[in-house]
Amino acid sequence: MWIGIVSLFPDMFQAVSNFGITRRALDKGLLSLEFWNPRDYASDSHRTVDDKPYGGGPGMLMKVQPLKDAIVAAKMKSGTNCSVIYLSPQGRKADHELLLRFSTEQALVLVAGRYEGIDERLIESVIDEEVSIGDFVVTGGELPAMLLIDGMTRLIPGVVGDMESVQRDSFTDGLLNCPQYTRPEIVDGQTIPDVLLSGDHQAIANWRKMQALGRTRDRRPDLLGKRGLSEEEQKLLRLYQTQ
Ligand code: SAM
Repeated sequence: MWIGIVSLFPDMFQAVSNFGITRRALDKGLLSLEFWNPRDYASDSHRTVDDKPYGGGPGMLMKVQPLKDAIVAAKMKSGTNCSVIYLSPQGRKADHELLLRFSTEQALVLVAGRYEGIDERLIESVIDEEVSIGDFVVTGGELPAMLLIDGMTRLIPGVVGDMESVQRDSFTDGLLNCPQYTRPEIVDGQTIPDVLLSGDHQAIANWRKMQALGRTRDRRPDLLGKRGLSEEEQKLLRLYQTQ
């Protein structure tokens, strides 16, 4: 997967290119990142990349021409008619389904805003989709872009060694993950559920599913509403309630 990134701070992306699973994906050639800095497209001697908003008021906006030229150059380099995503608090809130869709794309361009954002006409002309990381505002689109890159990279087949672990994670099956435990068996007097020591794979699978269902019902009933439950799952949820 190729991702073109339009950002005034490309160095920030070392957080994904130098560490962990995203770094491994880059090393394996399963992911490639390329950068376009609007500052390189500024036409004045000061390399200006911000401008005053019409109508006055506080703050600046990203200057139209350098940003537009950077986006167009990134899209041309993609060699495809790929989607251009603007990270914006006003966009569709990112979720598992969205990242799953993005992870199957061959190419994407991500645009990180700064200052008070970007000119609305650019959103109409060169942006295909606006994506938000949640109902709060951060100072720039770089961290939101990195979250998307990280989240979609782990869904690309071959990136994570054991795909089963990805499939067990929260949201994949429309549920939160079950509680998990590792050694030692007792931590400060706290034990672990007996079933996990039983060696009975079917009983462990049932327990995990029951916990995932119960936990999702308790913490995120909205997810259960969206997903629906099979008869077997309804039985497990009733069992969870009796515990
Ligand atoms: N004036 C904008 C508004 O109220 O909608 C907020 C601008 S914000 C200070 C600067 C940049 O940070 C935005 O252009 C966007 O790229 C990024 N950003 C801020 N919050 C975000 C969020 N929740 N999701 C995605 N991007 C965000």
